[in-house]
Amino acid sequence: MSARILVVDDIEANVRLLKAKLEAEYYDVIAACDGPSGIEMALTERPDIILLDVMMPGMDGFETCRRLKEDPATSHIPVVMVTALDGRRDRLTGLEAGADDFLNKPIDDVTLFARVRSLARLKQMIDELREREASGRRLGVIEGANARLNRAGARIVIADDNDRQARRIADELAVEHRPVIESEPDKALMAVRARADLLIVNTASRGFDGLRLAAHARSDEAMRHTPILAIVDPDDKSRAIKALELGVNDILAKPVDPEELSARVRTLVRQKRYTDYLRSNLDLSLEAAVTDILTGLHNRRYMTSQAGALVKRAVLGGDPVSALLVDIDHFKRINDTFGHDVGDEVLREFAVRLATNVRAIDLACRYGGEEFVVIMPDTHLKDALRIAERLRLHVSGTPFRVSGLSEPLTVTISVGVACTLGKDDTQEALLKRADAAVYEAKAHGRNQVVSRAA
Ligand code: GH3
Ligand code: MG
Ligand code: MG
Repeated sequence: MSARILVVDDIEANVRLLKAKLEAEYYDVIAACDGPSGIEMALTERPDIILLDVMMPGMDGFETCRRLKEDPATSHIPVVMVTALDGRRDRLTGLEAGADDFLNKPIDDVTLFARVRSLARLKQMIDELREREASGRRLGVIEGANARLNRAGARIVIADDNDRQARRIADELAVEHRPVIESEPDKALMAVRARADLLIVNTASRGFDGLRLAAHARSDEAMRHTPILAIVDPDDKSRAIKALELGVNDILAKPVDPEELSARVRTLVRQKRYTDYLRSNLDLSLEAAVTDILTGLHNRRYMTSQAGALVKRAVLGGDPVSALLVDIDHFKRINDTFGHDVGDEVLREFAVRLATNVRAIDLACRYGGEEFVVIMPDTHLKDALRIAERLRLHVSGTPFRVSGLSEPLTVTISVGVACTLGKDDTQEALLKRADAAVYEAKAHGRNQVVSRAA
């Protein structure tokens, strides 16, 4: 998997060395020589991973990391802090600054590639999710994906027969997660199969072959998507490489450093949650349940499920909520004259004009047939009337271009406007007033906006 990596380091020789190593693995490497230019490049070059040196003159690595994590435009990019080998304090400060991972100097190749690969995978998931969230937001489907991606409370299976080490790991992880220790490989696999967010396996266990266990978990259909963190002996490089070749997601050298452990686990759990989310069809079915297929607007069911609470908040002392009920004039004639398909196209084009004429927080929906409703939170009647009038002009002023018709079609709408009234008002009553107003608009010749105050 190729990824673009930004190296931020003030020492030219360090940059050159990292660049050579990473480019040999086909990563695309860009570099900055200090914090401010690193931040600038993060914004303009959109790297997938940032390797950030801690010690830099001027703005140090911590401050740079803090700023990267504060800016929504860069906060999603994984940051790896490059710290001194005995830099326990640095690692803590780095965590507080929002760093996603650590690398100790001098940088060991196997570890470097393990980190980079693991984080590149995570970044890919984040990108995919961000894309989906963006399109979801366009359709108005904001369903707190983040809540479901909460990275705490993971089920973690620790396969290790070194009782002391296993206990230390479990104690450290128990602060945020739910770890269980299994000293026998079969039981560990059973626990993972029963649903785990992460498998930690000690590849230097005496009583069983940790690599075999990892390989088994990787090839089993039920466990294929569970990330694996391998604990390795730093003096046994070939085993560490073997573990990575088998497909473990990351490695951690003994003796286990608690900060490093939490950072690794955090990355892997996030990765798992993203995978689960992306693989589940939940969001798709959710979208279908709340979306009108023809127009992409919300459907009536979704609108009614949301509007009640908005109206209630308004009548309990919040800002008023206004409703627009829009009905296309003589729509039946369009169908009768040009056919149903032309009618559909008019509905779609109208939906686009409607959606682009209201705010993102307004709830625009297809109420049925050629009727549409917009619920507008925090909106007084006067403003709702202004918005309705703007929409009316936007529809009648620019004829609709429809495929197959040589002349654009002039379409007009009648709009009824109502606003919440008093403490006993309800969603039903609000829409009823808007409906009565539409009726009035039709009776008075159509192509107009009418409001109902009571
Ligand atoms: P008015 O000015 O009184 O609103 O007249 P109208 O013709 O717009 O209203 P009416 O309620 O009499 O007719 C609405 C028509 O909309 C009837 C129905 O067949 C058509 N319709 C409903 N849903 C769709 C749809 O999804 N696609 C198409 N093409 N037509 C639809
Ligand atoms: Mg109608
Ligand atoms: Mg109509």
